[in-house]
Amino acid sequence: MSSSSSPPSSEQDIFADVLPKLVATIRASSSLAAQDVNFYKSVDSNLAEDIDASAKRLMNICNDLIRVTDDTSETKMEFGQENITSDVSWNPIGNVLDSIFEKIDYAFDQATKKSVSKAEGKSLEYLDDGSQTTSGNEPGKRTTKPQLKFKTPIDNSESHPFKPKLKSKPHALISFEETLQLKNPKPKYEDSIEVIDPPFYPQPYEYEIDNQPYPDAILEATKPIPSKDWSSTTAIWVDTPEELTKMIDSLKGSTEIAVDLEHHDYRTYYGLVCLMQISNREQDWIVDTLALRDELSELNIIFADPQIVKVFHGAFMDIIWLQRDLGLYVVSLFDTYCASKVLGFPKFSLAYLLETFANFKTSKKYQLADWRIRPLSPPMLAYARSDTHFLLNIYDQLRNKLIEKDNGKLQEVLYDSRQVAKRRFEYTKYRPLTNNISNKVSCPVMSSNPREPYNNLMYQYNVPAFKKPVVEVLYKWRDLIAKQEDESVRYIMPNQLLVTLANLDSPVDTQKVLNVPHYVSESVRLHAKELAELIDKTLKHTEASDWDLVDKWNNPSVNTTNDALDIHDTKELSKATDMLSNLIEINGTLLNNQIPQLLVNESKMYSNIYTSEKPHIMLEFDMKKNAFVKHNFEEVYQERLQALWDGLKELGEHSNVLIPEEEIDQVEEDVEVTAEASQPAPTTTTKPTLFPQDKEIDPNELITLRKRRPQPKKTGQAAQEEEEAPSVDYANADKIMITSKNKRGGKQNKNKKRAFDPYGKESEGPKPAKRAKTVTTGKTSTFKNKRK
Ligand code: AMP
Ligand code: MN
Ligand code: ZN
Repeated sequence: MSSSSSPPSSEQDIFADVLPKLVATIRASSSLAAQDVNFYKSVDSNLAEDIDASAKRLMNICNDLIRVTDDTSETKMEFGQENITSDVSWNPIGNVLDSIFEKIDYAFDQATKKSVSKAEGKSLEYLDDGSQTTSGNEPGKRTTKPQLKFKTPIDNSESHPFKPKLKSKPHALISFEETLQLKNPKPKYEDSIEVIDPPFYPQPYEYEIDNQPYPDAILEATKPIPSKDWSSTTAIWVDTPEELTKMIDSLKGSTEIAVDLEHHDYRTYYGLVCLMQISNREQDWIVDTLALRDELSELNIIFADPQIVKVFHGAFMDIIWLQRDLGLYVVSLFDTYCASKVLGFPKFSLAYLLETFANFKTSKKYQLADWRIRPLSPPMLAYARSDTHFLLNIYDQLRNKLIEKDNGKLQEVLYDSRQVAKRRFEYTKYRPLTNNISNKVSCPVMSSNPREPYNNLMYQYNVPAFKKPVVEVLYKWRDLIAKQEDESVRYIMPNQLLVTLANLDSPVDTQKVLNVPHYVSESVRLHAKELAELIDKTLKHTEASDWDLVDKWNNPSVNTTNDALDIHDTKELSKATDMLSNLIEINGTLLNNQIPQLLVNESKMYSNIYTSEKPHIMLEFDMKKNAFVKHNFEEVYQERLQALWDGLKELGEHSNVLIPEEEIDQVEEDVEVTAEASQPAPTTTTKPTLFPQDKEIDPNELITLRKRRPQPKKTGQAAQEEEEAPSVDYANADKIMITSKNKRGGKQNKNKKRAFDPYGKESEGPKPAKRAKTVTTGKTSTFKNKRK
């Protein structure tokens, strides 16, 4: 780094020397990796010692390198097979490499800065991200949770649908009272399947967003107004009601403003808006949204004013965060992300717009910073300010381009922006069942099967189906603790850890939990004993219930040995399979896009709809009668779930948790519409029933192959949108250490485009290397064994 005195020619020589050596090293290590080193070590003890010594030396060199490049981190690789093969220990290495590449990138940009500006006659401005000075962002630094200081405490109970947080409705076309009416207060069942969406409070500005006109000026091309000089201006820090009022007064005179947010989602259940950046043509403001959380709905005077255009870049999540934390809604949104799409730019990022239209080179360094930190370091403030400082000028340029093309283009962008502005936040528990909602509603967990969100996890991590009760109970435990302690589920128990725990074999004790070969989170360590008991009990109970099921199947009333289906006759078998899948497709409402698991037992075929919404219904196919018998194992199922629930409740009581579950139909139908309506409803004391009794099903109802209201088959875009996000782990997304592995992941990654919800709560943890096509059931053999 201090080679400023050496001439360029000698620097080139260094590269000429290093490169071949590097390539040779990579070759050697690859070929070494292809050998069975352990075998050679076992034959020759001298060789074994040599290899271990070399490995240790290499590890030390690596650790030295890490220390040199990143003095803030305590990253250190430990020697040992387990550490080297574990994803968790490689993560920090990925981080270090990322930061090295970032620095290289920066250095190259700095080096080419002069020549570029000469060539193009204009100079690129650089964000000082602090990488040349001491780091302003200290990732390890402990922050006390800002939630503790909130005037209105966080309510994770989900005892009612999400209530809009605003206290009045400025610029209303439809009155405040009318928009706060609960919709769908009673769930409706058809064939015991819920057919209408759970109750919800509508997005209060939905109507205004669609019907208030944008200001006429938006339709006219204008000479772009230059941004104020970057380096000679600063932002006003707003963290008191007085400063807020002043800012609002200044904004009232604007015809357009730029807005952006910074968000934190690790040490909180739903997430926290930490910062709001606002710029008009004159001034930048940075608002402390943690300090002013309860005051900021005042800003609706500006945000809901149709005459003031709000320019955001990629407001998809901002719209959700604004209403969730601050009770803010945006009328007259112009999203420059939508404009980038309609204009067909090669990239849709803000960084691209800044570089192309504002000659400003930003850095990704703080995208994932801990924005809860106070006071914010100058580089972090600079980063935040740059997100809105140039945006109005960019808006001018993009608008001109859109108008230049043809008027339809601008209308398209405004239409798309309005769809974004209308999005609604909802708790996971009240997630609408309707297809294709992911564009309209955002929940913390966006699973394609909201009743059993853990199915995704099982599929992703290739967990065998018989482990489902354990996965379910761990998932619910994790959710409960996360809500209680207001932490993210990935802080409480990363997916990988959950799956590892679920895969433990019975019997399970505390030591077994603590000794899993993965990172064990603090919460899991603290609750190890309870978790061990819960897992152990669940495993034992599952086994017992399975035998109950077998007994039911052996019930003579169902037994018809005459109609034996020869399972060795593959033709017959596949015919029956086809018919069964056909029926299941027709009966689409019974299932939730799940492939039924076929169980074959001597004379009959069963479709175990175990993975569907009705886990206790089984279809029996009778070849001779060409008919299906629907079996109801509700009792057994309820008993099993009750046991799980008791386990959970015991835990909850033990750790002083109020079980937050209430049935949907207990939501008060006539909500008094007053200012109080935004306050959490008093929790009823009714005994929670997690799994409602299902009385409408006739256990032995005979159903035949008859077409009923076939559901339109989901194809293309629609199917893709509904597809649950195959967890993209943003924290790891760019890391080269993991990328290759993720790419190998198969089906979902290759063929399905993920519905865009980058901050969904399911995004976490290292991903499994492989994924099976079908989930093994583990039951077929059970039945055979018992019967013989
Ligand atoms: P931005 O719109 O770039 O200002 O981002 C707003 C917030 O979104 C940030 O404060 C982060 O919490 C989150 N965010 C942005 N980019 C990413 C990313 N690549 N991965 C995860 N979170 C992100
Ligand atoms: Mn943003
Ligand atoms: Zn930002």
